[in-house]
Amino acid sequence: MKHIARKRFGQNFLHDNTVLADIIAAIAPKPGETMVEIGPGLAAMTDLLLKSLDHMHVVELDRDLVARLEKRFPRDKLTIHSGDALKFDFGAIPVPEGQKLRVVGNLPYNISSPLLFHLADFAPLVLDQHFMLQKEVVERMVAEPGTKAYGRLSVMLQWRYRMALMFIVPPEAFDPPPKVDSAIVRMIPIADPLACDAETLSAVVQKAFSQRRKVIRNCVAGMFTEDQLREAGIDPGTRPETVPVEAYVALANLLKK
Ligand code: SAH
Repeated sequence: MKHIARKRFGQNFLHDNTVLADIIAAIAPKPGETMVEIGPGLAAMTDLLLKSLDHMHVVELDRDLVARLEKRFPRDKLTIHSGDALKFDFGAIPVPEGQKLRVVGNLPYNISSPLLFHLADFAPLVLDQHFMLQKEVVERMVAEPGTKAYGRLSVMLQWRYRMALMFIVPPEAFDPPPKVDSAIVRMIPIADPLACDAETLSAVVQKAFSQRRKVIRNCVAGMFTEDQLREAGIDPGTRPETVPVEAYVALANLLKK
C-alpha cells in the first residue's frame, strides 16, 4: 500500500535518483562508520547508504513508517529508534573507541532550527552532519557578517560548526514537492570552539538581532553599555548584522563576569 505523505510530519520524499546519488556522494559513507539518519521516511537515502555501511541507525517519528522499515530491513542492518529526533539522545548511540558519529537526513523542515540546536549539544561526539534543508535556511546558516542573511542562526551555528552549502535541490526532486528550493549543507563541528555559555550567547544574539535596522547600541540597551560594546571590540554605532561571531562571543562572556 502506498504511504500518504503527512504534512504535519514535514514529509517530502526524495524520488530523483540523480539528486539521491549526489547526496550519497557528498556523504561518502564507508564501511565501519557509525551513522544515524534522522527521518528516513520510505528509506530512499537509507537504502543507498546501506550499500556502503554494514549497519546504521535511524530516528523516525511516524509509526506507520517505522512499521514499514521494520518489515523491510533486518535488525542487524538497521537499528530503528521510534520517536522524536528533537528529544532523542544522540549520545546514547554506541560508537567504537576513537570514532565519532556521522549524522545525516533530509530533515522535516518544520522543525529544522530546534533540531539543529538540539544537535549542537552533541557536537563534541559528532564527526560531521549532512542535511537537506530549505535553501533559505542554509543560506542563513552559512551567511557572512554584512549580508542580509546573517543573523541569529548564523552566529549560533558558526560558533560551533564549519559549514558549507554543497548544492541546491529543486522542488521537483520530492514527492510531494515543497513550495521552496532546498539545499544540502555540510556541518563539521569545530574541535575547540571559543568558550561561551550557549544560553547566554543565545540571549545576547536574540536581543542584538531583535531590531536589525537599528544600531547595536540601541538593540542591546539595558543589557550592555557602550563601554562594554567597545570592550568586546564592537563599534556601538554599527548594525547588528556587521558584528562578527567572535565579537558576539566576547560580548556574551562579559555578561557572565
Ligand atoms: N528521508 C526521507 C524522508 C524525508 S521527509 C526522504 O528523503 O525521502 C522527513 C521525514 O522526517 C519523514 O519520514 C517524517 O516522518 C520524519 N520526521 C518528521 N518529524 C520528525 C521528528 N520530530 N523526529 C524524527 N523524524 C521526523
